Amino acid sequence: MSKKLAPVKKNETITLKIEDLTHEGNGVGKVNGYPIFIPKALPNEQAVIKVVKVNKNFGYGKLLEVIQRSPHRIDADHQCGGCQLQHMSYELELQMKHNQVKNVLKKIAHLDHVPVHEPISMEHPWHYRHKVQMPVGEKNGRLVTGFYQPRSHRIIETEKPCTIQDPAINAIIETVRGASSDLGIQAYNEKTHQGTLRHIVVRAGRNIRETMVIIVTKTKKLPYAQDLVQAIKKHHPHVTSIMHNINPERTNVILGKETNHLWGASYIHDKIGDLTFAISAKSFYQVNPEQTEKLYDITLQYANIGANDIVIDAYCGIGTISLFLAQKAKKVYGVEVVPEAVSDAKKNARLNGLANVEFVVGTAEKVMPWWTVQGLKPDVIVVDPPRKGCDEALLQAMINMQPKRIVYVSCNPSTLARDLRILEDGGFKTEEVQPVDMFPQTYHVECVSLLQRETI
Ligand code: SAH
Repeated sequence: MSKKLAPVKKNETITLKIEDLTHEGNGVGKVNGYPIFIPKALPNEQAVIKVVKVNKNFGYGKLLEVIQRSPHRIDADHQCGGCQLQHMSYELELQMKHNQVKNVLKKIAHLDHVPVHEPISMEHPWHYRHKVQMPVGEKNGRLVTGFYQPRSHRIIETEKPCTIQDPAINAIIETVRGASSDLGIQAYNEKTHQGTLRHIVVRAGRNIRETMVIIVTKTKKLPYAQDLVQAIKKHHPHVTSIMHNINPERTNVILGKETNHLWGASYIHDKIGDLTFAISAKSFYQVNPEQTEKLYDITLQYANIGANDIVIDAYCGIGTISLFLAQKAKKVYGVEVVPEAVSDAKKNARLNGLANVEFVVGTAEKVMPWWTVQGLKPDVIVVDPPRKGCDEALLQAMINMQPKRIVYVSCNPSTLARDLRILEDGGFKTEEVQPVDMFPQTYHVECVSLLQRETI
């Protein structure tokens, strides 16, 4: 049999019609059935592209010119790799996310029949990010901040303020970068593992205007620390906490183990609904507080807690979901691997006067089987794992515990679908899935799923 050759060559320029859109937001055009993925191209566009990569079964192209424009095209400045979808209308973006969830449920979990609702959108899908982590680099002897180029560690300097971040955060980053540059602080260099300043991290509350700045260095000492503190305080009165984190490792992980207090409080507060949360430097907190409220509303609605219910909140972070559940339940147990987050969770229970909660430090996959052995029988389990989804041991523990309901909050539809399949096979039925758009302009999509135990 003759080996099939790709019908295009690398560096060839061709004109084609864009027919489809991938989950990452790439346009798909075909040459004799051979698909070419083209970032920033939109369905129904006629486009001139340059072939940049040729694999056996598919290729990649670079968009050179749009001959026939989609009505969904938006003229946007693409400064960095963070936002993949700024060139498309919000309407198309939501449609794409809706399709993505339906497709993975069908392909990975064979759950074609499960209703997937339209994503809950934002009225103004801009300036929503309340946490920013900016890498610091150097250019012509000055410090620069920006974002990493897609699939690389080259910093693209952002000249214009980022359109998805809270503008007040943009301004704080400017101050820290400018002052550090003036003081002659060096940027950390990943290649040589030399230098000082690695990242500037800022987290701001939305409903309570408190802001934390974390300056991350490779070195144990932050030179001119007090000058930096003064510069921040002078220009940004709503900053209430300034911390120094030390990360001496060769790693992509932003924060190191050690965090030192420079000025102000060691945490900030924010309010969601009627609850107040203290958040410290190393704890997870959703980056889009406006949508978080909607995400938690759905989670609570699906959890449908009764006054006698025992509930588990696995991957509980600072206890946000746990405390909303605790307002309705008899008792809530939370488990979380980051000790600082658990100590925030305990603080938050006290802060909100909720005594019917218990938080444990550990991995959900170890603690849940241990709880089972202890005889804990939850009526409802809520899980909210990171992108890699739930560990198999945890899924098995949930199946063994036989709760009435499971509410699965997920930031990755593919691992969600994989885990739903396992839970379905373990006797649960997926009733409905509600996507929530937590990350407009990017291809990330969050989902809340409701599963009920099948009664035989
Ligand atoms: N439900 C919380 C946190 C969700 S993010 C909220 O809405 O704010 C996921 C959390 O899981 C993070 O806090 C992370 O530290 C934690 N985590 C990651 N792996 C874990 C594991 N194996 N066991 C328990 N917690 C884990």
